[in-house]
Formats: sequence, C-alpha cells, structure tokens
Amino acid sequence: MKVSVIGASGRVGRAAAFCLAEENMVSKLVLFSRKESVEKIEGESLDMYDAMAAKDQRISILSSCVMDNLEDSDVVVIAAGIPRQAGMSRSEIAIPNAKIIAEYSRMVAEHSPNSIILVVTNPVDVMTYVALKSSGFDRSKVFGLGNHLDSLRLRNMLAKHFNIHVSEIHTRVIGEHGDHMVPLVSSTSIGGILLKNYALDGTLDMENMVKKVINAGSYVINKKGSTEFGPAYAIANIISTILNDEKKILTVSAYLDGEIKDVKDVCLGVPVKLGINGIERIIPLKMNDNETNAFLSAAEFVKKRTDEVMRSLE
Ligand code: NAP
Repeated sequence: MKVSVIGASGRVGRAAAFCLAEENMVSKLVLFSRKESVEKIEGESLDMYDAMAAKDQRISILSSCVMDNLEDSDVVVIAAGIPRQAGMSRSEIAIPNAKIIAEYSRMVAEHSPNSIILVVTNPVDVMTYVALKSSGFDRSKVFGLGNHLDSLRLRNMLAKHFNIHVSEIHTRVIGEHGDHMVPLVSSTSIGGILLKNYALDGTLDMENMVKKVINAGSYVINKKGSTEFGPAYAIANIISTILNDEKKILTVSAYLDGEIKDVKDVCLGVPVKLGINGIERIIPLKMNDNETNAFLSAAEFVKKRTDEVMRSLE
C-alpha cells in the first residue's frame, strides 16, 4: 500500500516516514517536500533504504516535489507547516499554517482523490477542519493526530507512577490537542480495574499529572527544539490501524456532527473506530460533569479559532 508524507524534510515528517518504512503493509512511500528541500529528502530516502536493507524490509521510497507522484496514495500525511518555537502556543501559527494546509489539501484531492488525509500540522484540530473543507473529502477520510499522542503521554505517566507495564493502562485524552484537552479520568483503568477502584495509596496527584500531559509537548520542545519520535510512532499507529483494517478505537481529531454532547461543525479529538476506509464510527461517550464541561469548553474554544481561521482564508 502507498503512503505519502508531505513535509517529509521536517523533523516530524521525516521521523514518521522512517517509522512507516518499517510497517509491513507499506510497500510504497513517497517523501514529498517543496522544491528547495528536495536534496534533503533525497538524502533521507537513501539513508532509509540503507536502514531497510539492514532490516530485510522491501520497500520503494520515492522523494519528490511533484504532486503527480502522490497519485493513488492510500494515506497522505500532512506535516508541513511552521512549527512552534519554545514559548509559542499552537494557536499562534494557525493562520499561516492554514494557508499551507488548504493548498496541500486541494492538491491531494486533485492528485489522489481516493486517499485518506492524516493532518499533523498544528493547531491540529483547526487544521483538520481546514483540510476537510479544502479537500472536499468525506469526513470519514480526513482526521488529525493530536489526542492519540496526548493519550500515550498520560498512559506513560500512569505506567511510571504505578510501575506497571504500559499495556495495562487504558486511558484516553479527548477535546483539543492543546490547553483544552480533556483527560477521561473517570474511565481510566489499570488492568481492567477503574482507577477509582484501584488500590490507590494516596500518592497519585492526578491534577498535577494532567498539567504535565498538557505541557508535555512544550517541555520536550524547550529541551530539544521539537518533538519527533512520539508523534512519529503515534502517526505510524494510526496508519497501521487503517492499512491493516484493525478496527481499533483510537483518539483522532474528527469532524463532529452532534455525535458527542451535541457538538457540531468542529473538529475535536474523540474516540473513533478506525479501519481501511478511515473513520467507521465516532464512539459515543459517557463523561462525568467536569469532563463534559471541559469538553464543551474545548469545543467552544476550537470552534471560535476555526471560524477566525476560515475567515482568513476567504
Ligand atoms: P519542521 O521540522 O520545521 O518541518 C516543517 C516542514 O514544513 C518543513 O520541513 C517544510 O518542508 C514545511 N514548511 C515550512 N514552511 C512551509 C511553507 N511556508 N510552505 C510549505 N511548507 C512549509 O517542523 P516539525 O517539527 O516537523 O513540525 C511540523 C508540524 O507538525 C508543526 O506544525 C508542528 O507543530 C506539528 N506537530 C504536530 C503534532 C501533533 O501531535 N499533531 C506533534 C508534533 C508536531 P518542505 O520545505 O521540505 O516542504
């Protein structure tokens, strides 16, 4: 199957491409960049070929700045855009990035009309909406990475706190990929036991842990300039779930039309069943009052920001 990565010269795009090259289901990988970065992605593709030879992995990797080469992609990842610098919020880069996402999404629709678009560029919930409207694709085919990564971060922190294997932690973060994210503490479980029924020893400060999840991306950016491995593996998780038609429930930024708490016409992180055709179902949720209020305020915040950005594109 064929996956194309737009923005493959960037740190997240390059790391995601490398993870995807290792996926058995990916037989063709396109690294796409603007003309000025084409030398760089050629270097990346040669380097990846060497790594794949060491892994006995057979794959075709093409580096290109020509949109025609995206033809017949099963999935197109869009990770091109201006990244956040230390101290910057995701919202500050919304308008410049919206122009980039709108243009690339229109081009994907023209050159690879049957593909699924996975948006990575921040602020991802707003950019997913821009990609959906600009591509004209069905909403099952356009979604964004954000809260899946936040969920992995929360999972990791809980696993470390309890010194339990990360696979035993089931938790989910929904809402905005940003300050308005909503950790679903009420449905978090360890080894199938709800957190509230787990033998807590009084050392878990959930409020503080949630703050750490909200700031996890910025914390890494302040230390090393960007995040890359976390998003890259989260992207590979989502794409392998699609290509293998796994029907896993992952949290992606999806267009809502009233499925959860009657929220409409906005893209937000929600649990969805993912398969070969993209989003098969948005999973309805039961939340406590605090979580519901936080989710509604995330919806209000992202909708306002999305409206501003969409006006800037008119
Ligand atoms: P980066 O290293 O700066 O790479 C961004 C790439 O975007 C560049 O290599 C460039 O590629 C392209 N680009 C930059 N300006 C452009 C323009 N004006 N027009 C077209 N393309 C342009 O950034 P990064 O760290 O990889 O981050 C990429 C995006 O992912 C950012 O928006 C970041 O905030 C976001 N992100 C999202 C998540 C998430 O969970 N959703 C996680 C991490 C990062 P070419 O010139 O080669 O085309």
